[in-house]
Amino acid sequence: MGRQERKRPLICGICGGRLKETRLTHEERRGAHLHLIRDVPAQVCLACGEKWISEDTLRQIDLVIRKGKPAAMMETPVYSLRPARLR
Ligand SMILES: [Zn+2]
Repeated sequence: MGRQERKRPLICGICGGRLKETRLTHEERRGAHLHLIRDVPAQVCLACGEKWISEDTLRQIDLVIRKGKPAAMMETPVYSLRPARLR
């Protein structure tokens, strides 16, 4: 049946720590828009906190940004810490 899933070792590529399956909200900037994708399957390092998303999932994210219908739209407040005299 289906294609075989290759089991990858659950080890962080940065620090070698153990990874844990999780779901997160991924942020991706495209042009003028910031896209949020909820419930993205990912792995988070228990040692350094780095998050890892598979190539397959990144392809899904790309597809949903280009062709998907947003579940919701929200306004995003933007702030600056630039000193007032430089404005
Ligand atoms: Zn790590």
